[in-house]
Amino acid sequence: MIALHNIGQLLTPLTGGKFLIIPNAGIASENGKVTFVGTQEELLSSFPNAEKIDAERKVVLPGFVDAHTHLIFAGDRCNEFLMRLSGATYQEIAAAGGGIQSTVQATRHASSAELLELARVNLQTIIRYGTTSLEIKSGYGLDWPNEEKLLRVAIQLQKESALDIAITFLGAHDFPKEIARDDYIDLLLNEMLPRVAQEKLAEFSDVFCDQGYYTNDQTRALSERARRLGLKIKLHVDELADVDGAALAAELKAVSADHLIRANESGIRKMGEAGVIPVLLPGTSFALKCAQHASARLMLQSGLRVAIATDFNPGTCYCHSMQYILQLSVLLYGLSAEEAITAATLNGAAAIDRESTLGSLETGKQMDCLIFNVPHYGHLFYNLGINRLETVIKKGKVLWSKKANPL
Ligand SMILES: [Zn+2]
Repeated sequence: MIALHNIGQLLTPLTGGKFLIIPNAGIASENGKVTFVGTQEELLSSFPNAEKIDAERKVVLPGFVDAHTHLIFAGDRCNEFLMRLSGATYQEIAAAGGGIQSTVQATRHASSAELLELARVNLQTIIRYGTTSLEIKSGYGLDWPNEEKLLRVAIQLQKESALDIAITFLGAHDFPKEIARDDYIDLLLNEMLPRVAQEKLAEFSDVFCDQGYYTNDQTRALSERARRLGLKIKLHVDELADVDGAALAAELKAVSADHLIRANESGIRKMGEAGVIPVLLPGTSFALKCAQHASARLMLQSGLRVAIATDFNPGTCYCHSMQYILQLSVLLYGLSAEEAITAATLNGAAAIDRESTLGSLETGKQMDCLIFNVPHYGHLFYNLGINRLETVIKKGKVLWSKKANPL
């Protein structure tokens, strides 16, 4: 048993919608699961003999659940970032051979061992910013050997890492250059999706449903096939244009619909009725210098449980830090601190179908928590761009601490 005591403020969303802030708090866990959350006095009287970690009056949150990443890839696209600073758009960069296609080329040339090594480094970095669970997508292969290579690297990370990892097959991230679009869709429907399911290489299926990418009909066909094969549904929708992707996500009863920058109001309401989790990616619309950001307030008012994620990828949002995403979400979307923390933890867990075990500090859930060296949780938002994380606890054990790894 491990007890974290002398916590200045403990914050956690609760299943069912409430949000808890406990000053002078304590939390205990056994076998990696939370057994007690309450005040310091209650903790000390109930568990006098527990092994204790002193939180030194600091702030404790649940570990972040990053529900949307493209963590495994080779190469970088720093040059495109500089092009965008000079005014080039996402579509112009893609038309010039950049964008997803340039990462596809670099990733196809990389071996599994190289991709694994690169991904490990990125995983180590995201842990230092507070991510304790994440989703990883394939999608930079765009043919079977390379998509399989990416999924198997993700499975290796899942095996060796302490983090909880949900794996998503995103063969429909773009179209490969070497074959006709219809032929690639046939391949996805009749060969790639069945093999992903048969060999249990992924839990979710995802499609980039947007202007210039997969149409709504193609997305429907791929997602329905994936569901029949036993995969759960995620979608990239309404990022570049309003293609009525939010309504499609509702129709398909997707677990999550992601991006949604240009989603229309009727589609958002349908997502609410269908219980689809919106995963908003403020780092992406910010880094793309979009004039418009996702309508988080409308979604919350419509009863949707908004999640936020990094969209970590080499092109449109090269951001490892969920702390930075929290800051962007309050500044760009107008979320409150409590709404942002809920979006980065419990609602992120819901977006990867892990809500029963992850995302909040409640009895019976996994003991994944973060200790921040701040006097009040407001500093996590107020102090822009600074990493205030001091300790990461995963399944009741210290996974990383700044004290053990000073700069
Ligand atoms: Zn994405």
